[in-house]
Amino acid sequence: MTHETRSTCPYCGVGCGVIIESQGDQVTGVRGDPGHPANFGRLCSKGATLHLTASAAVTRQTRLMQPMQRLRRHEAPVPLAWDAALGLASQTFARITREHGPDAVGFYLSGQLLTEDYYVFNKLSKGLIGTNNVDTNSRLCMSSAVAGYKQTLGMDAPPACYDDVSHAQRLFIVGSNTAWAHPVLFRRIEDAKAANPALKIIVVDPRRTDTAAIADLYLPIQPGTDVMLFNGMLHIMLWEGWIDAAWIAAHTSGFDALKATLRDCTPALVAQVCGITKEDLYVAAQLFAGASAGDAGRRAPTLSLYCQGLNQSSSGTAKNAALINLHLATGQIGRPGAGPFSLTGQPNAMGGREVGGMANLLSAHRDLANPQHRAEVAALWGVPSVPDQPGKTAVEMFQAAADGEIRALWIACTNPAQSMPDQALVRRALERCEFVVVQEAFATTATCDYADLLLPATTWSEKEGTVTNSERRISRVRAAVPPPGSAQNGPRHDWAIAVDFARRLEPLLPVRAETGLFPYDTPEAIWNEHRESTRGRDLDITGLSYARLDDAGPQQWPLPEGETVGKARLYEDGVFPTPDGRARFAATTYRPVAEPRESRYPFSLSTGRLRDQWHGMSRTGTLGRLFGHVAEPAVQLHPQDMARRGLQEGDLVHVTSRRGSIVLPVQGASEMGLSQAFIAMHWGGEFLGGVSSMGVRLAGVNALTTSAFCPNSKQPELKHAAVKILKAELP
Ligand code: SF4
Repeated sequence: MTHETRSTCPYCGVGCGVIIESQGDQVTGVRGDPGHPANFGRLCSKGATLHLTASAAVTRQTRLMQPMQRLRRHEAPVPLAWDAALGLASQTFARITREHGPDAVGFYLSGQLLTEDYYVFNKLSKGLIGTNNVDTNSRLCMSSAVAGYKQTLGMDAPPACYDDVSHAQRLFIVGSNTAWAHPVLFRRIEDAKAANPALKIIVVDPRRTDTAAIADLYLPIQPGTDVMLFNGMLHIMLWEGWIDAAWIAAHTSGFDALKATLRDCTPALVAQVCGITKEDLYVAAQLFAGASAGDAGRRAPTLSLYCQGLNQSSSGTAKNAALINLHLATGQIGRPGAGPFSLTGQPNAMGGREVGGMANLLSAHRDLANPQHRAEVAALWGVPSVPDQPGKTAVEMFQAAADGEIRALWIACTNPAQSMPDQALVRRALERCEFVVVQEAFATTATCDYADLLLPATTWSEKEGTVTNSERRISRVRAAVPPPGSAQNGPRHDWAIAVDFARRLEPLLPVRAETGLFPYDTPEAIWNEHRESTRGRDLDITGLSYARLDDAGPQQWPLPEGETVGKARLYEDGVFPTPDGRARFAATTYRPVAEPRESRYPFSLSTGRLRDQWHGMSRTGTLGRLFGHVAEPAVQLHPQDMARRGLQEGDLVHVTSRRGSIVLPVQGASEMGLSQAFIAMHWGGEFLGGVSSMGVRLAGVNALTTSAFCPNSKQPELKHAAVKILKAELP
């Protein structure tokens, strides 16, 4: 008999609802949940094949099925009982903490984890061990959006919602190939365009992507010049009187200071730096402001959708803030169809931020740097204090491990040996680390090769909890089938592994001898504690329970006690969560990419997603049909660049940066700009055998990328590295 379970797609921040069909312990089908407000029954190619990637045949080949210990580096690991594995982990972490201090250990987590998993890891690191060295692959994804929101609007919260797509008259899509990275949301954009011929779509992207194909105006800016573009648009808006002076006066601060910095951003300079025409710049400014003739004083609402093109940058925070400046200057926020709307890459990057699962955050959007916030969280957790030293963010954590400062790393549900920039650095870090724990569902990731201890985790269709999507909507993730393998020694839930480890660690850390900090037997118990931590905070969800989510379905935050529904959009009253209630303009100065192309490295390399693959392919790579769209890795170049270098389609080339080199076929792509190259992020070392300048074996495109990061958000510049491309000589 077929059983049906409502859950959420584990792939991207759209957060589509799915109905899982199962028979016994097997997932047999999946379809879109027509009642879920993120997708109304739609699924993309990845979501629609989830059941196939969870089949028993795939599971047998890819899953980590029992704890394993690697007795010597580079040798095959041997099976271990859970009890022994967690005993080893707790003894080793306790010893290193005693001998070298709490900051000698670190936790590197994932936007794939559920909110409840995140909560426990954060508490055990900051509350029990006493280190803020807990960060996540969401640092590679959304931290610039977080910093941009906080700097300007006063809190980390996307103020708009998916419904706003159908209310907007202007869609400003920048640094986002929505058609491929958020396909179900893109269907909504296409629907909005079909229903409203007056809707104007502006797409800003160095590559003419499938998203750009539906644009009324396409701006192929030079990589990394977004801040110059936004400042130039604001310069024109000021000159033409398209700003909303009354709204600025009533609801913002800092505009005069910003204005002074815009004087030099003349259309001529902006057009030259960005590589676009002055005419297109002018039209973009006019459309964004909603100031076109015929609006008769009523501004057409503008919604900005943006993603990694802004975030993965050494100027990530400035890019986000400069874009939000445009919304504030034109009053394009807090009403239907208007606002800045960051799209989260991962399914639960938002949930991780909500529980404070990052090196600079605390529970419920509290700031680590704020003594009152630290005291509140310490009281909530029942610990003497929370350390005030900022933790190491993603790149810093691996740098500290490479330097011998961090001696034990716990990596959960992510694959830094493929996904982190500057793989030579990451591999050095993992080699040098005294003790590496990898908590994973899949045995196939490159990071597993570096683990001293492998802990098998459950995954989609097996685990319970919650996730939050891009529009602040919290959805339930539900188990449809039991975990595979043996009940005693098979995969366990991420939260349960963290709780079991923490309970064993508590008596071993006499300095922080509080006990009973982890009394959870279910994810719901963790959720209830997290929920209480949000009381009175901007993301207050004290009106939300598992039962309420079961009865009423997914809900947006905030949803405080006494309320019946969450808030679709924020700031409709024009009041912002800043000390004076005003949104803040940020003075943003354009800075070029960290590693500009030059004569020795003449190409700008960008990385990104393909439509049918996800992350390092641990799930999507198991399904032949998902390779029908793009079968092989390649470096894409403009045909003129190929001709100039005498390259034919399919020729093997060395792509080399200052950090490493990989070999792969070249492919002509007219959507590329001149002197620009693109390589998809999904293929790892088994496909793209590479080597660093130091002779370290590398994986995929991140052999080439730079770990330079935004000084504010600490998000690395995965969207730009200078490379050279030379034809490979065949032996
Ligand atoms: Fe899953 Fe994202 Fe596709 Fe929706 S759009 S089905 S969440 S991958």
